[in-house]
Amino acid sequence: MPTSKKSKTFAMRVPAKRILEEKWNSELEEDGDTNIDFGGYINDLLDYIILKDEFAKVHFPNLSYDDVKGDTFKVRDMFLQGKVVEVELQKDKFYCKHHQSNSCEHIHYALCSIKLARMRTLSRYRLIFEQAKAEPDQEDMIENRQ
Ligand SMILES: [Zn+2]
Repeated sequence: MPTSKKSKTFAMRVPAKRILEEKWNSELEEDGDTNIDFGGYINDLLDYIILKDEFAKVHFPNLSYDDVKGDTFKVRDMFLQGKVVEVELQKDKFYCKHHQSNSCEHIHYALCSIKLARMRTLSRYRLIFEQAKAEPDQEDMIENRQ
């Protein structure tokens, strides 16, 4: 993959690296299209984030991210004169207060947004990440000191 001299090199958090390497190894076994280079795999994931964001912009042109508070994802809807619509996570189901529904464009938009990860309930998934952080990979830690 071509890179630029202006490309920034950055350190990856140790728990994130470990989790992503496990995910990469698993995908290498299951998916023949997975990039065989770990750096290429990470770049592919970043491309997917960008493409997912572009998908949301194209398919939900009237909607934009406003905020996340607790388990409420707030969506600004220009078809509703800029009204902020609240999508709540209730008992593992999303609920749109505006449509009083479990399936509408506001929910679909929220599910497309990477900022969904800011919702409080998703902290249970964050627990896996925190556990990995609590058990630092000594080999990686030593590598970072060099
Ligand atoms: Zn709605």
